[in-house]
This record gives sequence, structure tokens and C-alpha cells, in this order.
Amino acid sequence: MNYEKLSLKEWCDLCHSIAKEKGFWEKDRNIGEALMLIVTELAEAMEGYRKQDHDNFREELADTFIRLFDLCGGLGIDIQSEIVKKSEKNKLRPYKHGKIC
Ligand SMILES: [Mg+2]
Repeated sequence: MNYEKLSLKEWCDLCHSIAKEKGFWEKDRNIGEALMLIVTELAEAMEGYRKQDHDNFREELADTFIRLFDLCGGLGIDIQSEIVKKSEKNKLRPYKHGKIC
């Protein structure tokens, strides 16, 4: 598989199919738990950063995306289109989103 050429949709499909294969979607997913597991990966990245363990930092960031892509794949969310829509919205927001500080 040529990972370099995958679209976000393909990453979502791939991460979701691997997670299903490994048994993580046998029952209905608890979405709150799935979201918190994504946060957990970010916390692990923070630990890697704090310890100056650069390899671990990068790996935990990858875990974050993998869990997020799995969730989007499982919920049928077209995250590419959502990112495009939100980026267009963000472009129209004021400098620092209008916050003074
Ligand atoms: Mg991890």
C-alpha cells in the first residue's frame, strides 16, 4: 500500500478497518469514551514532549490521528469536507478571532 498518497477518507477507512479487525467495534462504541481515548493520546504526547522523548512524542501524535481517523471512519464522517468547511469559516474570522489578549 502506498501510504503517502492516501486521502483523508482513505486514512479514515484504513484506520477504521484495522480497528474493526482488532475487535474494537464489535459492540456499539461509546463515543464519549472514544473521544477521551483521543485525548489520552494527546496526554501521552505531552509526556513524550515533557521527557524530551522525540520518538515517543511523534508516535503519540500518530496515535492521536489514528484514533481520530478510526472514529471518523466508524461514524461515516467525511472529515476532509469538514476541515475544508471549517477552514473557510476560520479564514473569515477576525485577527485572533476578535480576542484582545
Ligand atoms: Mg499511545
